[in-house]
Amino acid sequence: MSKETFSFQTEVSRLLDIVAGSLYSNREIFLRELISNASDACDKLRHNALTSPSLIEGDADFKIELAIDNKAKTLTISDNGIGMNHDDLLATLGTIASSGTGAFIEALGKDDKKDMSLIGQFGVGFYSAFMVSDKVEVTTRKAGEEEAWLWISDGKGEFTIEEAKRDERGTTVVLHMKKDAQEFVDNSRVTHIVKTYSDHISFPVTLAGAAGEDGEEAAPETLNEASAIWTRAAKDITAEQYKEFYHHSAHAFDEPWVTIHNHIEGVVNYTNLLFIPSMRPFDLFDPERKSHVKLYVNRVFITEQADGLLPPYLRFLRGVVDSEDLSLNISREMLQNDPKLAKIRSGLVKKVLGELKKKANKDAESYAEFWGNFGIVLKEGLVDDFAMRDKLLELTRFKSTDGEGLTSLANYVERMKDGQEAIYYLTGEDENQVSMSPHLEGFKAKGVEVLLLTDPVDEFWLQHITDFDGKQLKSITRGAADLDNVKSDDADAKKDDDKAEDAPVLDNLIAAIKLELGEAVKDVRPSKRLTESPVCLVADDGDLDVNMERLLRRTGQMTMGLPRVMELNPTHTIVKKLSERAGANGDDELLKDAAHLLLDQARISEGETPADPAAFAKRLASVMERAL
Ligand code: ADP
Ligand code: MG
Repeated sequence: MSKETFSFQTEVSRLLDIVAGSLYSNREIFLRELISNASDACDKLRHNALTSPSLIEGDADFKIELAIDNKAKTLTISDNGIGMNHDDLLATLGTIASSGTGAFIEALGKDDKKDMSLIGQFGVGFYSAFMVSDKVEVTTRKAGEEEAWLWISDGKGEFTIEEAKRDERGTTVVLHMKKDAQEFVDNSRVTHIVKTYSDHISFPVTLAGAAGEDGEEAAPETLNEASAIWTRAAKDITAEQYKEFYHHSAHAFDEPWVTIHNHIEGVVNYTNLLFIPSMRPFDLFDPERKSHVKLYVNRVFITEQADGLLPPYLRFLRGVVDSEDLSLNISREMLQNDPKLAKIRSGLVKKVLGELKKKANKDAESYAEFWGNFGIVLKEGLVDDFAMRDKLLELTRFKSTDGEGLTSLANYVERMKDGQEAIYYLTGEDENQVSMSPHLEGFKAKGVEVLLLTDPVDEFWLQHITDFDGKQLKSITRGAADLDNVKSDDADAKKDDDKAEDAPVLDNLIAAIKLELGEAVKDVRPSKRLTESPVCLVADDGDLDVNMERLLRRTGQMTMGLPRVMELNPTHTIVKKLSERAGANGDDELLKDAAHLLLDQARISEGETPADPAAFAKRLASVMERAL
């Protein structure tokens, strides 16, 4: 086959323009990217060789070799990894613009300083080679195949592919350094870069010795530690090295919020090096709830999706788990049922939750940030993981009417009022709306704190967990409000109590409203929870709670809402006046309209629409007309 010429896809070309055209302070990261690709290629082949050992026959020692040619001004990065065939080359280096290209260009665009170092995290790290080179040549041969290929580009819109010769499998990348990038054909500079960025690479990275006076080449020098970082003792690893590894292995670019590195010896031996990110990964809410912790068996990569290694509610974790006690050529299905894996899993869960507790106790502010990122995911465990429920509940944080910050249940309990027996909560969809809910009025007046829960998952775990520390968890939108025993501690609340005492008896009004609304309400009764609004709706004891019903209707799992209990505020002027009218004559149009309007008003205050918007508008107009 003769030489073929291809154009880069538009997106790649745009990326290359940016990469090649500007000056960056951190250009040296190109080497990290190319070494990372070489390492990935070795990992892939080692993994494939588990099932096809012949692929690495005769050459099982993976390595990455660097060489500098001072005359030609080239830097060469060579690996004996999986290599690429013609199709692979086309698919990966040039034509297929991964979604990462656009995302990276966007990320760069916002930042004046143009931080190139993120490029690898967007899956386009290879192109960083064009920051420093005006020509890149890739000679590659796929493991198990005979043909080799040469890919060449100057990064200016086109690349070529032609047949080539390569004696062994693997990939060689030759960078022809730009005039202003001569620093990268210097041994000590290259050595320094590798030690800085690539020390964690688990294959040896060597640099061929410079030719001496006699033309004789010195032996290549190994530049990195060349052992998997997690196998080393934690005390020998710097924070910077952990971070480099986290970025490399998780394709992340934030700081790890917590690093959890342990060697466990016991019934099952394993090592974990786990990271909790400080930022939300973009796929956190993927419906598949996949784990992103890589499983290794004796330092050989097995899978990134080991079902059963970690529960889905810890899917924000990144990093690796390595165990010599699992079988190397185990299939994924068998892995799932391996009791050793279950052991590892329960050990990991305990460890991670323990670390979280430590963080929560030590630095509440930092923990609040974690909670903001991942609390919504961790809470899934309250439903999923029965055994860990208590531990998870301790770690759970809540917004509340007590103030701006977050509270734990334990702290809530400490603040409970004399005579208060339950832990009160209000669930809803939106924080603003929830905090304005009329249901809160009576609680606020008595100074009783209410937890405000606005994540959809809250409704679900509240089905399973009904008490904490011997105190019932009680929704303030369901059942009667039992605030009578709670001692008010301020004068205003006392006044409200007095006001309630001379409130009218509502029997006639209640009878009239029931008659008018019929099936639309389950019951009508005087309210203990309202102090300012005239009316609200609550779920009857034992009925589906208000917000749960809302969720089910929104997701189409329920069509008709249940009739609710309507509560009237006996101290409200509207209710008082209506109550006076109710005794008087039998057929009162205004009273009938008012009954419907009160119901609709209660719905609106919950963010719902009136049952019949047209009728609502008509009634409102008619009542206003009469009032004017
Ligand atoms: P990423 O490494 O995130 O996939 P890159 O732009 O760095 O993105 O590399 C693109 C792809 O090119 C890789 O996914 C891989 O398929 C291929 N590739 C790059 N370098 C090598 C190599 N040395 N050996 C085999 N394949 C490689
Ligand atoms: Mg890469």
